[in-house]
Amino acid sequence: MAGIDQVMLAVQPKEVVLKGNILRVGPLQSAIGARFDPFKSENLPNAFARIDKARARGETPEKAAISFESRYGALGYHTLVMRAGGKPVGGDPLDWVLAHAGAVRFALDLIMALDPGNNEILADFLKDRARYVKGTPTCDWEDDNLYGSFDVAIGASYGPHWFSRQIPPILGDRVEPVKGELVRSFAIAILAYLVTANTEGVRYCFREDGGRMTAYRSWDALIEVIWALVGDMAVSATEQDKRKGKLAHIRGCALCHTPFLAHHGRERYCPPPEGSKESLCGRTARMRKLRKPRS
Ligand SMILES: [Zn+2]
Repeated sequence: MAGIDQVMLAVQPKEVVLKGNILRVGPLQSAIGARFDPFKSENLPNAFARIDKARARGETPEKAAISFESRYGALGYHTLVMRAGGKPVGGDPLDWVLAHAGAVRFALDLIMALDPGNNEILADFLKDRARYVKGTPTCDWEDDNLYGSFDVAIGASYGPHWFSRQIPPILGDRVEPVKGELVRSFAIAILAYLVTANTEGVRYCFREDGGRMTAYRSWDALIEVIWALVGDMAVSATEQDKRKGKLAHIRGCALCHTPFLAHHGRERYCPPPEGSKESLCGRTARMRKLRKPRS
């Protein structure tokens, strides 16, 4: 379905309306001089996950979803539901958008908690602090199993998904000392599952480009690109030698706590959206500081 045309995506404000709980994106405007390859926009997962924590910035999730799609376009429920043999609804259902935002946000938080040496934080995160789309997740150690039930979004659907990992029997009676590594492998298995299940339409393609052969990734729906970028972040965060000569690392925004890829020590807030130079969270934080009465 996707071809060379879809390698590039227009980034110009589009008209998005919320009608009957469906986000409908108006016709694309001419995008001369304002195009980007979403695969090169490494902080697209951050821009999308911010919808989930919109209230931390005094914004409703509905408004945040509209402003995301106005900038980046539709997430592609249409394509995913057609591929699954379902019926399109003329746009992205708001509940579905929010479910994916919650699941991406959960994956980013999980990647951040995977930082080596923080296996206790990771265990706490999975057991107590994880709040995804809706309901209460469970994650516990019982019967030599590490298990958890999570409400996550997969493709065109969302709901509870069950994950479990068998603890090797020989370690069963001495689970405590090895808990750290087990919880890490459990967390990575969840991430691998989520990313794989959500990137079905992402493929490697090749083309001739000025006498050279170039490779690019093609995709069916923008939400798949977001998930593929989440996968790239997880791969780089779990590299064994990540401390050596690594330029980017994952950090939480000082205002809304959404994780993002930071390239230098000064970055404190969510990076600017595509086509802008200013961090939206940075601006909100600055305005709050100005408004605060001086004592
Ligand atoms: Zn932020």
